[in-house]
Amino acid sequence: MTTKTNTPATQQHESSMFDAVLARLDIAAKIYGLSEDVATVLKNPQKQVKVSLPVMMDNGKVQVFEGFRTIHSTILGPSKGGIRYGMDVCDDEVKALSAWMTFKCAVANLPYGGGKGGIKCDPRKMSVGELERLTKTYTVALSDVFGPDKDIPAPDMGTSAREMAWIVDAYNKVYRGNFPGVVTGKPVGLGGSAGRETATGRGVMVATLAALAKMNLDPKKATAAVQGFGNVGLNAARLIHEQGIKICAIGDHTTTLWNEKGIDIHAAIRFTKENNGILKGFSGGVEIKNTELLTANVDILVPAALQNVITEEVAVNIRAKLIVEGANGPTVAEADHVLQEKGIIVVPDILANSGGVTVSYFEWVQNNYGHYWTEEEVNTRHDNSMREAFEHVWSNGQQYKTSLRIGAYITALKKIELGVKAKGNY
Ligand code: GLU
Repeated sequence: MTTKTNTPATQQHESSMFDAVLARLDIAAKIYGLSEDVATVLKNPQKQVKVSLPVMMDNGKVQVFEGFRTIHSTILGPSKGGIRYGMDVCDDEVKALSAWMTFKCAVANLPYGGGKGGIKCDPRKMSVGELERLTKTYTVALSDVFGPDKDIPAPDMGTSAREMAWIVDAYNKVYRGNFPGVVTGKPVGLGGSAGRETATGRGVMVATLAALAKMNLDPKKATAAVQGFGNVGLNAARLIHEQGIKICAIGDHTTTLWNEKGIDIHAAIRFTKENNGILKGFSGGVEIKNTELLTANVDILVPAALQNVITEEVAVNIRAKLIVEGANGPTVAEADHVLQEKGIIVVPDILANSGGVTVSYFEWVQNNYGHYWTEEEVNTRHDNSMREAFEHVWSNGQQYKTSLRIGAYITALKKIELGVKAKGNY
């Protein structure tokens, strides 16, 4: 079923993430009856850029970093998608993430295509000065790719509002003007939108409630495990907890904790704020293994950290009834059928974590307007948009008698196909 890519073996992760995208695309295309021409277009990213970034390090030596940006598609509008910093960043990962952005933006009904970028680096081991020089070098190197109406980056793993402010600063200097709409996820007060930072976690919460309603489950009686305590996991855990759902397990890259009576999420957040952002040392639960969180005896599992954590073997042991994918690509393609056969409802990444890019769009609209909305306004628009996207995906899942994941791909393919056909080819 999987379409093989031409990625050289040396550049492939253990299992290619782009192949995981193509596997789902193939299934959705077949069920929906997508035209072969459109499928071929979507299997090949529009543009892939790789740059070498020489940076003066604090020790007085120059280090050269690899930077990437892939524009998967601009069929429905300028390409949109984050920039991640991490040691795993490579062609394949960025390519897969850029394709997911195309589908995510279409599912969320945004006038955007998809893109993604990244730098292979370990931000935890770099000083603020080194990170600023690296980010600005990357921006200048990609200044003819980025643009408020061309390609609009945003935060992703390892980056935040701080890096977005550096990007806008470098871009403004290249083009000698003020272009806040070139990037989203900026700090509030510097063209950022109220509610953007918490938007992805908020979207996970809205998607969770929407799914529970379809499953006739009362949130007040439900339990959850949340993997990841970065921007997405932390806000998802907090907002889900505030809806009355008991969070029994949380974890980050330093520790994983379990508490049957429910973890005090606000206390955990206070702890990480005073502890370099890490959970290790928090006494609100007993330590368990990372994989035990994924198979914990809870109703809802929210993987909101890394990709490829739900493998076939893990899927066999999952006890949750509902999985809401806060991370991009947490489930490997081979595990989909296991989850489906077990009757587990999976709200897929391209729907579940689309709250972030939805509020990125609102930020861009506000930048273009030069007028800013209150947090309440942003949240109301976000919640409505998320619920609407959920309903479309759900009804496509029902109509085509398939999973929510494939229903989400079909939702996206319908819009993208319209765009390709209307625009024509030359
Ligand atoms: N990096 C986020 C994502 O994967 C946000 C992208 C954006 O806001 O453009 O959805």
